[in-house]
Amino acid sequence: MTTLELDRIAGCAEPAQHAKNQQIEPLRERGQREVFCGLTGIVWLHRKIQDAFFLIVGSRTCAHLMQSAAGVMIFAEPRFATAILEERDLAGLADANEELDAVVQRLLARRTDIKTLFLVGSCPSEVIKLDLKRAAARLSAQYAPDVRILNYSGSGIETTFTQGEDACLAAIAEQSPAETSEETSLVVVGALADVVEDQFARMFEEMGVAPVRFLPARKSAEMPAIGPNTRYLLAHPYLRDTAAALEERGAQRIPAPFPLGVEGVTAWLKAAADAWGVPQQTFDDVTAAPRARGARSLERYRAALAGKRAFFFPDSQLEIPIARFLARELGMKLTEVGTPYLHRAHLSEEIEMLPDGVQLSEGQDVDKQLDRCRDLRPDITVCGLGLANPLEAEGLATKWSIELVFTPIQGYDQCADLAELFARPLLRRERLTV
Ligand code: SF4
Repeated sequence: MTTLELDRIAGCAEPAQHAKNQQIEPLRERGQREVFCGLTGIVWLHRKIQDAFFLIVGSRTCAHLMQSAAGVMIFAEPRFATAILEERDLAGLADANEELDAVVQRLLARRTDIKTLFLVGSCPSEVIKLDLKRAAARLSAQYAPDVRILNYSGSGIETTFTQGEDACLAAIAEQSPAETSEETSLVVVGALADVVEDQFARMFEEMGVAPVRFLPARKSAEMPAIGPNTRYLLAHPYLRDTAAALEERGAQRIPAPFPLGVEGVTAWLKAAADAWGVPQQTFDDVTAAPRARGARSLERYRAALAGKRAFFFPDSQLEIPIARFLARELGMKLTEVGTPYLHRAHLSEEIEMLPDGVQLSEGQDVDKQLDRCRDLRPDITVCGLGLANPLEAEGLATKWSIELVFTPIQGYDQCADLAELFARPLLRRERLTV
């Protein structure tokens, strides 16, 4: 969606914690970047939080983006919309706050099912400095306790597409209820498909890890309480601001790799099991069958993908865990693994598991990166939609990184689906070239 100067590389990296981490130095680039903006997160977040509504305060461009991103969905009652800033608002001739209040009033009068309303900032609302935090506080006072009104930014000036989820969850974490008990609880952080969430909840229960809550919850009233007795486990690597908001309230992170691939899922579950003192035998009893099922499901993909070379453009921030999975469980070779931001504290376990000598890059200078990709001629290139078509036209097989977020890929039973995402474009290209 945007072609912008990358200005947030510095400060993302934190001190390396492991010897091998210190050896891997990413190529850091600052230049033009090609990414979707954070509004895109609404496409999966509105499905997850079933009584929430996302009101984008933006332009016709924002509305078009959302229509195309969610275009195939059919709604009985839509759960997102755009309040369009017109020229009079942008020129400061109208009071945008008054207009926003009127839009919210009409929306909430018509839709009594809405329990949380997110005011989502965009590039235009930021350019005219419309203070949505104050608007959310003002409107919350008016509509509480029936409706909670939160705000976050999905603007492409500030965010890549997965950062929209991070900003949304950080807003929820800041306002989540305080703990009322001294019992230690586990909060799994990151929007997961319901089917994946149910699988994890079942395994935690069988291991005796309890109580377990998910952030975000499916219903506004079920958002987890947060406080010093909260231990949290990140389900995605792109939740830096959410983690900071949780820690601000006293919660402590359980360090772990991410639950992608058999190995990643096992290590992720084990980190929580160890924090709860679960005996090894219990852990093995609970995980052995799904683990074996996951490993078996990967066999045919390994045969198809082993030795194939993958190149990652920076986009989703899922690049490093997925590259680890492709290399270790499917035998693929990594040519370059790009990520928009390298958060070493959250990714240190993942970086430890990458093959020696892997080329990481952080940030982007898209023309230089395209040149490197063309020189390397990888078998598969993971990139945003804007780069995929030109690269396909040049004879390179591509995988849209946004599919990695739209598809349930976490958990043992989804390992094959994740592998399939990479096998399919290669198979298609083979068929086309025969
Ligand atoms: S928020 Fe910015 S980048 Fe995203 S659709 Fe709106 S104008 Fe485009």
